[in-house]
Amino acid sequence: MNIAKHNLCLYKKSPLSIQTYTVWHSSRHQSSLVSRQPNASSVEERKQSPSQLHRISTVNLVRNIILGKVFTSPFLFKHGVACLSKIANSRSAMLDPDRNALLRALIKPMIYDHFCAGTNKLEIKKTLSYLKTMGFKGVILIYSREIPAMPVEQLRELEPLAQDEDIDIWRDGNVKTLDMVEPGDYVGIKFTGAGPRVAQALALGRDPPQQLLDAMAVICERAAAQGSRVWIDAEQQVFENTIARWTVDMMRRHNTNNQALVSLTLQAYLKSARKTLENLLHQAYHEGWTLGIKLVRGAYIGSETRALIHDTKTQTDECYNSIAADLLTKSFPGFNKQDFPRVELFLAGHNSDSIRKAYALYQGQLQKGETPPPIKFGQLLGMADDISCELLAMGDDGAEKKTAAPMVYKCMNWGSVRECMHYLVRRATENQSAAQRMQSTVGVMQKELRRRMGF
Ligand SMILES: Cc1cc2nc3c(=O)[nH]c(=O)nc-3n(C[C@H](O)[C@H](O)[C@H](O)COP(=O)(O)OP(=O)(O)OC[C@H]3O[C@@H](n4cnc5c(N)ncnc54)[C@H](O)[C@@H]3O)c2cc1C
Repeated sequence: MNIAKHNLCLYKKSPLSIQTYTVWHSSRHQSSLVSRQPNASSVEERKQSPSQLHRISTVNLVRNIILGKVFTSPFLFKHGVACLSKIANSRSAMLDPDRNALLRALIKPMIYDHFCAGTNKLEIKKTLSYLKTMGFKGVILIYSREIPAMPVEQLRELEPLAQDEDIDIWRDGNVKTLDMVEPGDYVGIKFTGAGPRVAQALALGRDPPQQLLDAMAVICERAAAQGSRVWIDAEQQVFENTIARWTVDMMRRHNTNNQALVSLTLQAYLKSARKTLENLLHQAYHEGWTLGIKLVRGAYIGSETRALIHDTKTQTDECYNSIAADLLTKSFPGFNKQDFPRVELFLAGHNSDSIRKAYALYQGQLQKGETPPPIKFGQLLGMADDISCELLAMGDDGAEKKTAAPMVYKCMNWGSVRECMHYLVRRATENQSAAQRMQSTVGVMQKELRRRMGF
């Protein structure tokens, strides 16, 4: 048994909060990057040697297996999520995990600590430092204050405020987040978290309120001063055009130093994704700033106008992979390699096929002497840990092969257990819809646990 020395953790300490109009769900799943069909001759050897999961603490390994079993059992999942939802939506002190010590003792170690960074600065610092010890290049930390969603008709009726307290709270939360990250880390920003009046401006295509502009200036200047980065989340289509316009204004102002201080999120499930990217590339080229792109598939398929989204999952996959490939090879139609705009690419997702293809292409470009845009990979904390570890292991292999190690990040929220309850319900739901991948993950985690126990 060689458990002790593998006890670097994926722990978190606590929780967080929330977002607003958000729900990231995934759907299906691919196999992990880890081979699941070792040939017979290598089985014995693998029992003895550390696997790519050796970075994960035993506590976290066991928690991954238990939660995986719950998420993939329809009975346990249904009752588990019903309990979590009841707690998240209750106003009773009995069901408030911040006030009921017993409830907190049940939720925090098993669920909260798995998905969230921490409830206070000390816990969060500990989580971040453990992740870096595991080999992650950095983190994306999100202050996710949640504001109840409102229909657009209701947003329209809101009166303007001279001083919007929601924006102040949102700014302070993001500044506090910046205080907890290090150079090279990201702070994740969700505009709708700034409250209903900001959501109103987004939905109606208005300019940002001056108070929000001032808040963003403070956040960007602080991030730049400490060497951190800012990424802006993509949300529902009703907000997206305006989010993109505001984000381009920020990139124009802050991405001038051959570096993407600010990144925009592009949703590949949209039929318009490639056209949007083409426009962004033209703007970046003509105006001379660096385009920061965080590429995701898109989380709102359940609530968006379906016609805006590719008809099939395969088309979404093709769109995601082709965007990554065209950026990495600087071969986007209408542009030539020599004067391709400066781009930084962040591939956010848990799809091993896309990750594998993009990383192989990136390495291929480097080996050919090309200069592909820098690429980073990110997964959510508590999800796809096997894929994250596989990427980290590629870095180990890379050292031998003299290739660049992938830059791997974990993305997570922070806040009190109570504040995090809605986020936790969403993570549970997302994991269930990713049941096939979860089964795969549980399989490799069980194999690793057996290896540590010597059988
Ligand atoms: C670090 C990180 C940051 C993220 N940030 C954001 C964000 O800012 N905004 C956002 O919207 N999402 C965000 N997401 C969520 C992301 O968009 C996906 O929902 C999630 O990652 C699952 O997709 P996947 O790429 O991991 O792979 P997969 O699980 O292989 O793909 C699932 C996705 O494919 C698409 N899809 C599924 N079925 C169909 C179908 N029938 N037709 C067409 N398309 C289909 C959907 O987009 C679905 O989410 C983020 C995810 C991560 C890991």
